Amino acid sequence: MNRDESLRALDSRDPWDVLVIGGGASGLGAAVDAAARGYRTVLLEQHDFAKGTSSRSTKLIHGGVRYLKQGNLSLVLESLRERGRLLRNAPHLVSRLPFIVPVHRSWEKLYYGLGLKAYDGLSGRWSLGPSRVISREETLQHLPTVAANELRGGVRYFDGQFDDARLAICLAQTLSDLGGVALNYAPVLRFLKDNDRITDVVARDAESGNDFEVRARSVINATGVFTDAVRRLDDAGATPLITASRGAHIVVDRSFLPGDSALMVPETTDGRVLFAIPWHEHVVIGTTDSATDELSNEPHPFATEIEFLIENAARYLTKAPGVRDIRSAFAGLRPLVRASTDRRTSKLARDHTIVVSRSGLVTLTGGKWTTYRQMGEDAVNRAAEVGGLERRASATNEMLLHGARLVAGSKESAPTHWRGYGTDAEQLGQWADADPSLAAQLHPRLPYRAVEIVWAARREMARTVEDVLARRTRALFLDARAAIDMAPKVASILGSELGRDANWEREQIAAFTTLAHGYCLE
Ligand SMILES: Cc1cc2nc3c(=O)[nH]c(=O)nc-3n(C[C@H](O)[C@H](O)[C@H](O)COP(=O)(O)OP(=O)(O)OC[C@H]3O[C@@H](n4cnc5c(N)ncnc54)[C@H](O)[C@@H]3O)c2cc1C
Repeated sequence: MNRDESLRALDSRDPWDVLVIGGGASGLGAAVDAAARGYRTVLLEQHDFAKGTSSRSTKLIHGGVRYLKQGNLSLVLESLRERGRLLRNAPHLVSRLPFIVPVHRSWEKLYYGLGLKAYDGLSGRWSLGPSRVISREETLQHLPTVAANELRGGVRYFDGQFDDARLAICLAQTLSDLGGVALNYAPVLRFLKDNDRITDVVARDAESGNDFEVRARSVINATGVFTDAVRRLDDAGATPLITASRGAHIVVDRSFLPGDSALMVPETTDGRVLFAIPWHEHVVIGTTDSATDELSNEPHPFATEIEFLIENAARYLTKAPGVRDIRSAFAGLRPLVRASTDRRTSKLARDHTIVVSRSGLVTLTGGKWTTYRQMGEDAVNRAAEVGGLERRASATNEMLLHGARLVAGSKESAPTHWRGYGTDAEQLGQWADADPSLAAQLHPRLPYRAVEIVWAARREMARTVEDVLARRTRALFLDARAAIDMAPKVASILGSELGRDANWEREQIAAFTTLAHGYCLE
């Protein structure tokens, strides 16, 4: 995947079959599905892939236990099926994780036990293992820091966990492997029409400042919380389709939740679900759910959200994190399909919606990471109809994603997190063997090596220090201060890979440091 090559491919005046706007889960899923059917496909992302919501999730590939409680069986079934497919198609990035619901009253064992048995039942052949009620002792063995006061036991079940931004990069690489084109830093500015039908998209190469036109038979709008802004580029009077809900997370050291399981609290003080999940040798605690009108790719967690997470963590963990223990705090915005004018967002549907406007613009919105593949398939079906493309069936059901074939990191000396690179880990290892300076770890608190920066620049279209530290590695999300410390080294390696000067490096360090301070709480 190379940005200059993508730009050159866009010079072509031959119309593309499918043009996707937005490089998050939804857009990447649609683009991969289109390219896998053999359609000529291009994806344009205004910032970096997964810059928006798709790098800010709770990192779960799940059926959604709480949708079961809401009685949304079709969504749970679809999610469980997709969870199974994803575990098979991207085993390097998605894995099975045990979760424990601690119980404090005897009726809860029955209530949650039965609910999770129903979850198992719905999983059918995609089940990740049977859930079961466990004793107090076993609960403490799996979750040594869970609050033991009045603890009666727990219910243990299985769900999927993943690295969201790395899966997005993997999808962009899959798109490229399939002959499609992905371009980051390319905002779509407007549409050109003939007889009220969209014929071209006008976009900007944000690096050079040059605008360019791309001809396309069908256009998919998959722009998350910016869905309505793009719909208004097509029709200034378009009715708003989505509403946004904020969710925040905090990240702390693994010592706050040692053991092999995640903690799941089905109902916190205000009725929300709370997770504490081991992730990349840290613990992610979240999330919140509140309506917001402020749409941004870089939302900041509110002090009230942090307080809520700290307070509830203290309720369920013996070792409760304080503000000073927080290594990183981040927020994301869910694009939720408007069901009505009701502002209580946790009651809105998580199902995805596809709307086709008079101009032929296919808008894909709502849904969740877990169901991105199905969302993409549905959107491409509509785009093919609208664009008059030859009918071809989706081919992504059983398609392995980039790097999936071999469970990498098998070489003993390879860092364990290289598993996420899949088959590419072998080449990373070869580069590091050939130049030992590339094997150097960049920060004592994080496992990332210099070779990963080189790899990100050459193979993963990383263009800025932020791309590397936030989404190619997950340094910013795991430990924002360590990420700030790493920035000069990253700027120097990336600068030399991209042929940039010292001034660029200084600007990059300053911009990243300012951004990363938003993830630090002190
Ligand atoms: C707090 C939180 C926790 C979540 N946890 C989970 C979870 O654990 N599991 C799960 O399955 N789901 C989860 N979700 C849901 C999931 O993260 C989202 O549904 C999904 O990431 C949305 O992807 P998207 O592609 O629609 O939006 P985005 O990821 O926001 O992507 C849209 C992209 O469009 C780009 N764009 C916008 N305008 C333009 C333009 N004019 N030109 C070009 N590009 C443009 C943006 O820059 C952005 O990158 C969570 C969501 C939140 C908020």
